[in-house]
Parts: sequence; structure tokens; C-alpha cells
Amino acid sequence: MRLGIHSVQDLLFHLPVRYQDRTRVVPIGSLRLGDQAVIQGEVELADIRFGRRRSLLVRLADGSGSISLRFFYFSSAQQVAMGRGACLRCFGEVRNGPAGYELVHPEVQCIAEGQAAEVEQALTPIYPTTEGMHQLTWRDLTGRALELLEDGGLQEWLPVDILREHGLQPLAAAVRLLHRPPPDQSRQVLSEHGHPAQRRLAFEELLAHQLSLRMLRQRRRQSAAPSLLGDRRLQQRLLAALPFALTAAQQRVLTQLRDDLAQTQPALRLVQGDVGSGKTVVAALAALHCVEAGYQVALMAPTELLAEQHWSNFADWLDPLGVALGRLSGRARGRRRAATLQGLGDGQLQLVVGTHALFQEDVVFNRLGLVIVDEQHRFGVHQRLALREKGAAGRIPHQIVMTATPIPRTLAMTAYADLDLSVIDELPPGRTPVSTVVIADARRDQVVERVALACRGGRQAYWVCTLIEESEALQCEAAEDTAAALHEALTGLRIGLVHGRLKAAERQAVMDDFKAGEIDLLVATTVIEVGVDVPNASLMVIENAERLGLSQLHQLRGRVGRGAQQSHCVLMYHPPLGGIAQERLTVMRESNDGFEIARRDLEIRGPGEVLGTRQTGEMQFRVAELLRDQDLVPDVRRLADRLVHDHPESVAPLIQRWVGSKAQYAVV
Ligand code: ADP
Ligand code: MG
Repeated sequence: MRLGIHSVQDLLFHLPVRYQDRTRVVPIGSLRLGDQAVIQGEVELADIRFGRRRSLLVRLADGSGSISLRFFYFSSAQQVAMGRGACLRCFGEVRNGPAGYELVHPEVQCIAEGQAAEVEQALTPIYPTTEGMHQLTWRDLTGRALELLEDGGLQEWLPVDILREHGLQPLAAAVRLLHRPPPDQSRQVLSEHGHPAQRRLAFEELLAHQLSLRMLRQRRRQSAAPSLLGDRRLQQRLLAALPFALTAAQQRVLTQLRDDLAQTQPALRLVQGDVGSGKTVVAALAALHCVEAGYQVALMAPTELLAEQHWSNFADWLDPLGVALGRLSGRARGRRRAATLQGLGDGQLQLVVGTHALFQEDVVFNRLGLVIVDEQHRFGVHQRLALREKGAAGRIPHQIVMTATPIPRTLAMTAYADLDLSVIDELPPGRTPVSTVVIADARRDQVVERVALACRGGRQAYWVCTLIEESEALQCEAAEDTAAALHEALTGLRIGLVHGRLKAAERQAVMDDFKAGEIDLLVATTVIEVGVDVPNASLMVIENAERLGLSQLHQLRGRVGRGAQQSHCVLMYHPPLGGIAQERLTVMRESNDGFEIARRDLEIRGPGEVLGTRQTGEMQFRVAELLRDQDLVPDVRRLADRLVHDHPESVAPLIQRWVGSKAQYAVV
């Protein structure tokens, strides 16, 4: 079944999405719009109406007031049964009709004179369902599952003392309540998932998830990695050659990384840092640490352009130190590729920069000691696993994962509980926040004017063209057209163009010219999103900004604001703006802080999208919801520790119950 229900336990955890109250008869006079209620009364009037659609209109009164029942489909038997004077009990939702409140197609029961019809004893559960499964079937199935529950069908895995301490009710009681809540339970609280029984289940689910990640971490701790002890020789030389000193945050994270690499168990650390916080140089220093120890480093980037950027950065920094660098792009073929493979295999190459191409089966390393992954969440778990396998002789390489899309702390603690976490929480000195404006594309001329002004004043600018992601070809064409149009409008300015279809060498040449100040305005597709670094550029225009997500906008905007002068970002949109797009652009205008933006992104899109795990189901919970239940996380983490120490027998069953076969897909 598509709902993933295979056992009695699955059925018990198949919880209602909402509830109806059929436990009491409500006076008609007290009904409000939108109420779903049971009412009972006498038919005052029954009429066929010929409006736009023929309908049967029945007027029902109970002394407190009256309401219309409207039927578009009805048999003559029904019409007779609902004739004047009949006593009816109905359940339906109150809507606005042409003449006051009405119930459209309510459920109707005729009550014989003097008969007291029964009401339900519990709130009526409404289950998530699939086609062909009626609510009555669900009620029947869950009813039977609940009977089994009475016979101890659901084992309690949380020890009594823990339940008491955290004020949690027993699992069975919580499950029973949620399937058949007593009439006095608030439907409001239930619909907001704030009921103690719901929190009880969410708590256990988050706990199970936390435990499963701890088990992964434990398993990793049991495998071996080469202990990398650098002598700092190369690192010192790079530091001496840099035109700046590391920030305190970079220094702190670098120390953590060196400690990690010295361990004999494989490290797995997530380094978060806002755009421009200087992750690349930290990665380079960690790489040198590994090279000093005599091991190889693989640096993996999500796109060819970013791999090129990294390669050119690393080449600038490390060539002078005599480090042998290679690169492996997806496009490399023939002799060049063979030479790189040879160098990796015999250990001549000390560092390789590449894309997914690094995962291919014929890539064999001689002594791989460290894998650095940039922009982690674009890589699937399986790809990361594949690189792990490339360690030498049963040794697993250390892994450092860098991300510029900061993940809010609670989410990170839940999603990445098996990773160590470092944050570069400081920008290099002298950066000024980018001031951002949002402008409709009808005012394009003014924007062009602004570009002219900035460039004539000796500054540089980006003009980013966006188009539907799927068509790179169209995107490149649009960029070409835009470049041509701007060329015409901005005579005298030097305009360059980069997009994904240029050859790597051409692209590099344009980037180099821009960096050298020989180009004033760089027209580009979103290929420049990451890694591009030109401090003199202080204006960015993004066309059709409404099409981009928050983290992408933040990444793009991060290309400016790198120098000392005030930078500006113009977000142009094509009206009308949808609600979410408007929200996103507002967030961009209001904030420059990557963590704040990520937090808002999470609110707008939800964790599955933010983590890129929606499709894989990695972070899908049955009951818990990360945002809603994040206040539970600190307790959950404390309890996970305690359970592992004091009640290890509960750990596996809890994981099995809540995470089950998904455990193997969790972040590794
Ligand atoms: P990101 O974290 O976004 O990858 P980069 O590594 O690209 O950031 O760094 C952004 C820019 O800041 C680069 O030009 C880099 O050389 C520079 N940079 C890095 N660290 C420092 C520092 N401590 N002081 C000044 N500039 C720095
Ligand atoms: Mg970077």
C-alpha cells in the first residue's frame, strides 16, 4: 500500500489528520461559519428550487434557530423522508448560502418520533487515506488494532523513570487517545499538534532518529583512518604568503580540523560559514596538513565552474609550494584523463580537484587521506559513500564537508547528529553589508542607468540573467541577448559574458579579465553563483529574482560586498509577485545574515526542501515536524545519551520502530 502500512504497529501510527465532533448535538442558533457539527431539528419547509442548478432546499429548525440544508442530488424517497414535519439529525459544515447559513449535502439521519438517537462517545478521527479507502474502513481497522493494543500489542521502550521525569504518558495511552479522543479534548489543540499525546509520539520519534544517527557515528568510530600528523611546514608558507591574517573563527575551525585529522578514526565534520566567511582558505590549509603527512586529498565541488574556481585558487596558492595538483572534470577524456588517473594511482598527485567525476569507479587513489566536499547538500548520500570507499587498504579517509548554506542549529543537530559541527561565525574585517532593493522590471531603464553610473565611477558590476533551470541552452541565449542589449545601452563600457556553454578556457579568460578590472560589467547566468571572488565588484543586478530560492539569492548576492566600499544589490522582478516570492524578496531586503536567511527559508519551504532530502525521504518523520517540535530537541539529545548508557536494550527496538529500514539512508 502506498501509505506504507504493513503491520498492526504501522496502523497504530497511522494517526488522524483531524477530528470531527459528533459527540453532542449543537443548537442551530449557536452555529458559526465553518463549524462542523451535529444538529437536530424539525423540517419547516422543503422545496425544489430552480436556480442555476436544480436543488432541494430543506429548512430545519430546533427552537434556537433555523438553517437550510441544500441537496443537488437526491432521490424521490429522500425528498419524501425530508418532508415537512420530519425530524432530522444532520452532520455537516456550515457555509454561507444565498439566504444565510446552510449545510450542503450533510449526512442525514431520520429520527422516529420519541426516539433518542445516540451520539458518538469519542471525537471522530479523520485519517489520511488513499483512493478507495473509506474513512469507515480506517475506523474499523484502527479499532481492531486498538483492541490488540489492549493486549500489550505495543511495547513500551522508554523506561518508567524517564517517562516520569519528562512528564510523558505511556505510549499505548497516547496512541489510544489520538485514535479516539474523549469528547473533552480540544480539537483546536489537536489540530495544532500541541496535545501532550502528540508531543509524546513526536518526542519518541525524534529520539529514535537521534539514536540511529548516534549508531552511525559509533560505527564510523569503529573503523580506521590514517592519523594525519602535519608538520605545518607547508601551512606556514601559505599563511606567510596570504595578504591577510586568518580571522579568529577561521583559526578556531582550522584547529578543530587539525585535531580531527590526527585521529585514527575517520572524521566527519560539517564546516558551516556564511558566504564570504573564507572557507576556501581553511580548506586549503587542512589539505596541506594532509599533504604534509604524506597523504592525498580530493576536493569535490558540485559544478564544473566551481571546480574550476577552486582549481585556480588552489593552483595560485599551492603551486608555489611545490604541491602536485591535478584536476578531474566530467569532460576530461583520453590522454589527459589517463595521466591524472595515473598520477592518483601512483601517488604522484597530492591533491585533486574535481566534480562527481571523482567517484567514478576507475578512479583509484594511492593514499587518500582526506576528502573535502564543498556545498555538501547537493551531493547525495550515495555519492559521499562512494568516496569513502576509496581509502587505502581498509582505511577510510577523513571527510570535511563545507557548506555556505548554513543550517539552523536545531535542524543541524537533528539532521546531522552524526557529524561534528564547526561554524566560521565571523566575516573577514572591513566588509560592509550589501544594501538591497527590490524593483519591478518596468523600471529597467533606471537600473541600467545605475549600472552606468557605478561603472563610470570605476566600480564593477554583475548582471545576472536567470531563466528556467531546466534549459541551460535557453539560459545562455537569454544571457547573450541581454549582453547585446546592454552593450547598446551602455556605450563605452566594457562588457563581458559568461555562461555554462562557454569552453572552460574561454570562461576562465573572461573571469580573469573581470578580476583584472579589464571588464566593467559581467553579464552572467547563475553559473557565477558560487566561488567567484572579485572584491572591486560592488553592484549586482539579478533579473527575474522571483524565480530563485533564498539560498541561491543569498549566494549570488554574496559575490558583492567583498570590498571596503558600500555594495548594492538590485533584485528585479516581473510582476505579479506570488506570495512566497514576495516573502523571499522581503527577506533578502531585510537581512544579510546567512543564518537568519536560512531560518526564514526553513519557515517558508520546510526542512525537506532546505536539506535537499525531500525526495530521498531521509528526513521524513511520521509524527514529528522539525520546525514545530524543535523545542523538544535539546531534551531528546540529552535523553539519547542517557539511553545509550543506561538502557542500551531500548536503542535498537526504538530505531527499528521509527526509522526502520530508512536507517541505512541516514547521513553518512
Ligand atoms: P566562502 O566562505 O564564501 O567560500 P571565500 O573562501 O571565497 O569565502 O573567501 C572570500 C574572500 O575572502 C576571498 O577573497 C578570500 O581570499 C578572502 N578571505 C578569506 N579569509 C580572509 C581573511 N581572514 N581576511 C581577509 N580576507 C579573507
Ligand atoms: Mg566557497
